[in-house]
Amino acid sequence: MNRVALITGASRGIGRGIALELAGIGFDLIVNYAGNVKAAEQTAADCVAEGRGVNRVIRAEVCQADVGIAAGRQKLIDFSKAAFGRLDLLVNNAGITSIGRADILDATEENFDRLMAVNLKGPYFLTQLAARWMIEQIKVNSSLRPKIVTISSISAYTVSTNRGDYCLAKAALGMMTQLYATRLADAGINVYEIRPGVIASDMTAPVKEKYDKLISEGLTPIKRWGTPGDVGKAVAALAEDLLPFSTGEVINVDGGFHLRRL
Ligand code: NAP
Repeated sequence: MNRVALITGASRGIGRGIALELAGIGFDLIVNYAGNVKAAEQTAADCVAEGRGVNRVIRAEVCQADVGIAAGRQKLIDFSKAAFGRLDLLVNNAGITSIGRADILDATEENFDRLMAVNLKGPYFLTQLAARWMIEQIKVNSSLRPKIVTISSISAYTVSTNRGDYCLAKAALGMMTQLYATRLADAGINVYEIRPGVIASDMTAPVKEKYDKLISEGLTPIKRWGTPGDVGKAVAALAEDLLPFSTGEVINVDGGFHLRRL
């Protein structure tokens, strides 16, 4: 039987890259999306084609759900239970950029609330639901080593004054990871945070020229854009239990952006 991963926001971008890497190491997948059903179905089909599970076969099911609302999060867990009956990995990936990218002196509470719902409340309470289920699974089978991985950002510690809400949410995901890592350690569930840098996706497409220039001028020691596959490979390493004595850990997938340089 294949292990099972639930990836939020897996229809496009980084989530899709994570799904493809996990399919390659034999995970069955729940491909969550918000509204883009065609992209989600394409990801699922590509994962099945790439799948290297038992007998080189994996299953990938798509599930529409808005992680920013409680009913959406419950729907995802209910769907995963009905479709696969087990969960070995939750990847909190779904996220939106700051709506309107307004200066913090002009940004609205309405936009702040929506971003916080999707980018912070979503992962926080989806992790709660998934962790409860994982603990139940471990009670039945103590050899299981389920894991939780959250995709935050270099914005957890990097100021962008036109994306204040985004930076706040990503910083809070760092504490969320530490909280759940501590709470779930006794259960045998390791919890990790991945901080991607500048990754090519629909989210960064509108600012491509700006980042092309910054990267060519040395923004990152590794002078290229990151790819969804770069993040996917990091998730795959964690999913394979290659860091068994590490929890609450931050993995920077940023071409060295976080290094202070003189
Ligand atoms: P993206 O290309 O805009 O894709 C976003 C994904 O999230 C899509 O699959 C989308 O589904 C889904 N989604 C959006 N709102 C959702 C909701 N309310 N409920 C469920 N799914 C939802 O973004 P990305 O660049 O891949 O970013 C993925 C994650 O990485 C985000 O958390 C982002 O903050 C983080 N990140 C990105 C970068 C970067 O440079 N790109 C850097 C650091 C961190 P639909 O297709 O249905 O719309």
